[in-house]
Amino acid sequence: MKVAVLSRNANLYSTRRLVEACEERGHEAVVVDHLRCTIVMEKNKPSIIYHGHTLDDIDAIIPRIGASVTFYGSAVVRQFEMMKVFTAVESQALIRSRDKLRSLQILSRAGLGLPKTVFTNYSRDTDSILNAVGGAPVIIKLLEGTQGLGVVLADNRKSAASVIEAFHGLKARVIVQEFVKEAGGADIRAFVVDGKVVGAMKRQAKEGEFRSNLHRGGTSAIIKLSRSEKAAAINAAKKMGLGVAGVDMLQSKRGPLILEVNSSPGLEGIEKATNIDIAGKIVEFLEHNVAKPKKRIQKD
Ligand code: ADP
Ligand code: GLU
Repeated sequence: MKVAVLSRNANLYSTRRLVEACEERGHEAVVVDHLRCTIVMEKNKPSIIYHGHTLDDIDAIIPRIGASVTFYGSAVVRQFEMMKVFTAVESQALIRSRDKLRSLQILSRAGLGLPKTVFTNYSRDTDSILNAVGGAPVIIKLLEGTQGLGVVLADNRKSAASVIEAFHGLKARVIVQEFVKEAGGADIRAFVVDGKVVGAMKRQAKEGEFRSNLHRGGTSAIIKLSRSEKAAAINAAKKMGLGVAGVDMLQSKRGPLILEVNSSPGLEGIEKATNIDIAGKIVEFLEHNVAKPKKRIQKD
């Protein structure tokens, strides 16, 4: 098959590994910059023009769409869907996963564990916000943040109230969440492909830090998930409609608590921590879903 990896940069670890994994399995792979794709619509004939040529020979795509270009990136993925090209991540699921609040609503309805979370329309009533999550300490998160930036731990009620007021005063939307202390500055990333956990790592925050993001100096190591952690990760990916997902969870006394579900999870951290060929698992997922050329049945 011919696979297009939708990525802005062919030199990124994840992009390189996906191209490599396709070629190792005898497929052709091209890196397509989704922001340079032109979407063409006409009756019964959706197409994409890329560097002056029509992309009409792609069998499957692997979207690696950055959060800042979700709108255009998802439109390109949708166009491939219109052209009946198989996608590792569907456009609707991609858009859903980029809305943190909607994602938490979906996970909550699905009966999955998550830290108790409150969201208001810039409410000034910090008392009732804090009461709703069981009081300080609390975690306050900018709705638009990534890589641990915009995640604040407020130790006491007073500081929590002033941080919430400050964000709301700036018209920045935040969610307020119970602080899961027993997670001990660690979280789990479970990598789910096609309804199976294909690798998992535990990330530990550096000394004196509660955020375990690798970008914030956290370290990672392979981990064997418990049965309930595995089930939670698989169920979360399923409820989000994601064929490929990075599910982040905290370990708590009441079982796994889901923080978020990523639709373009990085491969470098997980492959290095686990030594598993995750890129290969993603390509196998495509192989299972791209129809093999059918043998022609001679009719006479
Ligand atoms: P981002 O999407 O920016 O990475 P996260 O919600 O994943 O933000 O939070 C970053 C890190 O902060 C997590 O990996 C985790 O280690 C820690 N963290 C987040 N929420 C909580 C919480 N409610 N209780 C304890 N630790 C948390
Ligand atoms: N941005 C990527 C993600 O959505 C990389 C960060 C990571 O793997 O933790 O997951």
